[in-house]
Amino acid sequence: MPRRFEHLRSALVRMLELEGVIKSPLVREAMLSVPREEFVPQHLRDYAYQDTPLPIGYGQTISAPHMVALMTEELRVEPGHRVLEVGTGSGYQAAILAHIVSKKLRGHVVTIERIPGLADFAKKNLERVGLYHYVTIIVGDGSIGAPQYAPFDRIIVTAAAPKIPQSLVKQLRPGGRLVIPVGDRWSQVLVTVTKQSDGTIHTEYGTPCVFVPLVGCEGWREEERYIT
Ligand code: SAM
Repeated sequence: MPRRFEHLRSALVRMLELEGVIKSPLVREAMLSVPREEFVPQHLRDYAYQDTPLPIGYGQTISAPHMVALMTEELRVEPGHRVLEVGTGSGYQAAILAHIVSKKLRGHVVTIERIPGLADFAKKNLERVGLYHYVTIIVGDGSIGAPQYAPFDRIIVTAAAPKIPQSLVKQLRPGGRLVIPVGDRWSQVLVTVTKQSDGTIHTEYGTPCVFVPLVGCEGWREEERYIT
């Protein structure tokens, strides 16, 4: 069974390379090493290597592999970086990041999830694949970041925001990079914010995407989340 998953994982990574989504050796190696089947509910393991989001309970999803690869490439994460992820979900994106940053001392991922049951699911998944040591999971509103752990070299948000949360921009280190889907409830674009060494902010608008809403102080209000 594990060999079958390894074969499917290699085929998916090869496809993402041919499509030009995976470009760097670091992202390629992380996508080849982290077993996505360990981050989906038991009854969906057979679908782990289809390039699609899958339900993980509580109305939430694990993102499609191409979106994880694309965002990780866009983040330009490096070994030794301190990274904040907002929207832990299954823990899969955190595992990909942890695999990369842990190649050098100091590398660590802080990830925030608002739903306690998912934070618990992610913890168990990360423990099973041996990456929990490099990840701190916080339960709370990640739209305001994690000031107690700031500054971060990189910040990735895996839920859709109505606008760029200024708390997150503040928590970026000079030279840092933030990748976040921004738009309305049903359609967003990936936005990349870079903070130059003199503190100047540069914003670029990229690929169209669809994410579940970022619900919180600097995201959507709970009662707004189904409004188009
Ligand atoms: N990165 C995840 C993975 O690898 O499985 C997928 C994330 S899922 C698309 C989005 C997640 O963001 C959901 O688990 C949702 O509960 C969470 N979320 C939404 N608003 C949040 C907030 N303000 N703070 C923290 N997590 C939030």
